[in-house]
Amino acid sequence: MTIGIIGSGAMGAGIAQVVAQAGHTVRLLDQHMGTLQKAVAGIQKSLDKLVEKGKLSAEAAAATAKLLHPTSDIHDFADCDLVIEAIVEDLAVKQQLFRELEMVVGPDCILASNTSSLSLASIAAACKRPERFVGIHFFNPAPVMQLVEVIPAVQTRAGLAEEVRDMVASWGKRPVLAKDTPGFIVNRVARPFYGEAIRLLEEGVADVATIDWALTELGGFRMGPFALMDFIGHDVNYRVTESVFTAFFFDPRFKPSFTQKRLFEAGYFGRKTGRGFYDYT
Ligand code: NAD
Repeated sequence: MTIGIIGSGAMGAGIAQVVAQAGHTVRLLDQHMGTLQKAVAGIQKSLDKLVEKGKLSAEAAAATAKLLHPTSDIHDFADCDLVIEAIVEDLAVKQQLFRELEMVVGPDCILASNTSSLSLASIAAACKRPERFVGIHFFNPAPVMQLVEVIPAVQTRAGLAEEVRDMVASWGKRPVLAKDTPGFIVNRVARPFYGEAIRLLEEGVADVATIDWALTELGGFRMGPFALMDFIGHDVNYRVTESVFTAFFFDPRFKPSFTQKRLFEAGYFGRKTGRGFYDYT
């Protein structure tokens, strides 16, 4: 199969690695050449690490790297059987991308979005053939995280979500089907997790490090809420919270916080910018 990935940021690069390791030819595109080059270098580094750790043979790593085809030209996606979009979480931008993509790909190419919080129905609405559109939602980092949510839109043809679920399982992942509702499964449960942690901080109940420490050391969580928000990035995480809140008709359970909004506005996105709730400089 030939699989196209659009957007080579945190998610797109990871997804590209997953599908290349599964033996598929990958076309990887980003609007920024520098990001694309960084993604290819990052995947190579990740493959080298797997070889070092003895989790992948040197031959398999070399074969995987050969399957990656970075490009800046969307016309190179003409031979794709599946295209997964992992660009900025903005409905209008995603819709425009799918309009352009449909002018390039064949009629049977499956179109997918990795959106965290937008409705699949609203993205599919921009497509001429919305019946071949589906959500494939990976978790960060995609090569490591087993779970993938597969979400049919109301327009998706019967049976496609199940086909895609089986395909994703063949890549070594553990997919689940979910309905097209805000945040799907994990991001919906995660909103109150982050929101309540920020409320604890705002009320002065405990500081960032103490809350993270309590939840990881004693609560059994892999990462504390603040370390996790910094890892995901406040640009992505804040936008998802805002989107879920709006999509749930402003249900106060999902209300965003000014504390995170200010970090977002200041460009303190977390690890990727060196500062968030923690200082990484
Ligand atoms: P990111 O900012 O790291 O990467 C997005 C990339 O898309 C950037 O490199 C940008 O240059 C590129 N881009 C933007 N518009 C484009 C366009 N029109 N054409 C081509 N490239 C374009 O973001 P990310 O964290 O990888 O998130 C991408 C998507 O995946 C979003 O929809 C997000 O909600 C979703 N998602 C994110 C996470 C996460 O934890 N970060 C997890 C699951 C899903």
